[in-house]
Amino acid sequence: MHEMALAEGILQVLEERASTDAYARVRKVWLEIGPLACVEPQALRFSFDVVASGTLAEGADLEIVQTEARAWCLPCAQSVAIAQRFDACPRCGGHQLQVTSGEQLRIKELEVD
Ligand SMILES: [Zn+2]
Repeated sequence: MHEMALAEGILQVLEERASTDAYARVRKVWLEIGPLACVEPQALRFSFDVVASGTLAEGADLEIVQTEARAWCLPCAQSVAIAQRFDACPRCGGHQLQVTSGEQLRIKELEVD
């Protein structure tokens, strides 16, 4: 379950930012996750609750924002939206796609005290 490792990574970022941004508690975290990151939101919430226990982020809400995945289609020579990694191009039906975004996982916003 790689969600546990991701949750630990998120907590690490929150703790590092706490010293630069001077906050003591994290109330809510907005996370942007691309559809190709292969993250199960329920599993990530559960993992985050576990790793945040006893830290500055204990009991913080995790708000997961799904973003869009995009790929560059060679035959169409343009950027198209895809739902999954091996989807065909929605315009020409071809498979000569290079994924350009959709794998990201980043902290978009924080609510802190
Ligand atoms: Zn195409």
